[in-house]
Amino acid sequence: MNNCVHQCHMARKRFGQNFLHDSSIIDAIVAAIHPEPSQAIVEIGPGLGALTKPVAERVDAMTIIELDYDLAARLASYPFFQSKLNIVQQDAITVDFSALSAERGQPLRIFGNLPYNISTPLMFHLFNYTYAIRDMHFMLQKEVVNRLVAGPNSKAYGRLSVMTQYYCNIIPILEVPPASFRPAPKVDSVVVRLVPYATLPFPVRDLSKLATLTSLAFNQRRKTLRNSLGSLFSAQQLAEQGIDAALRAENLSVEYYCQLANVLAERPVSQD
Ligand code: SAM
Repeated sequence: MNNCVHQCHMARKRFGQNFLHDSSIIDAIVAAIHPEPSQAIVEIGPGLGALTKPVAERVDAMTIIELDYDLAARLASYPFFQSKLNIVQQDAITVDFSALSAERGQPLRIFGNLPYNISTPLMFHLFNYTYAIRDMHFMLQKEVVNRLVAGPNSKAYGRLSVMTQYYCNIIPILEVPPASFRPAPKVDSVVVRLVPYATLPFPVRDLSKLATLTSLAFNQRRKTLRNSLGSLFSAQQLAEQGIDAALRAENLSVEYYCQLANVLAERPVSQD
């Protein structure tokens, strides 16, 4: 029995493998990325090379990061790719993207049809390197893109929205139906462009404070800020920042979260 799902490769669920096969979608994604020959292009999760090949045709060299040993070896065996690809067979969450950028002497242009099971932690990892990244194009679950772009006062607005909007301008590009993949996923997908800000709109002095605040607030999103942030701010202290303590996590803008993070950063370190 032939169990090939696509190009005689058995898709591995644990690696989130759903391979693109729709040529009009592939063309649209490559057009959106618009790779230029000498740019420092990095693909995360090239799989069977659906996006890798058309992008490699447009550039002098590119780096691919693929966790699946068999797929990395398969790409390495194609003569066309051998001259072009720097193959990193590694978990993308452990990759030092600033070193990759330093090797190429320019900011990275990263793209990938990301494995959905790791897309959020991977984006958080990449946010540590936004100074070394020019832009990112990712295929994500539509529901995740809705969370990335969500503004205050909506259900989709959460920690992921605040942290992503802190670092990046977010532009949804293209909806992709399940039938464009083999095997077809159960959810709709969207290609999104993330462009790190050259100048942050609301810079914070200590990012760990922003992380703490958003975790505290959104982990208890049904509670009022008086309760969810009560260990850090009294209602009076919130009022001094122009914030009503009766509001909930989802009512507070990115700007207010950053403002509160800066208040925390200025507090003297406790002597306890
Ligand atoms: N780019 C191909 C395409 O569009 O057809 C494959 C996309 S598939 C959704 C995700 C790819 O990411 C797979 O090739 C999978 O093996 C790879 N992958 C999964 N986890 C990874 C990780 N932690 N680091 C790097 N690659 C990973």
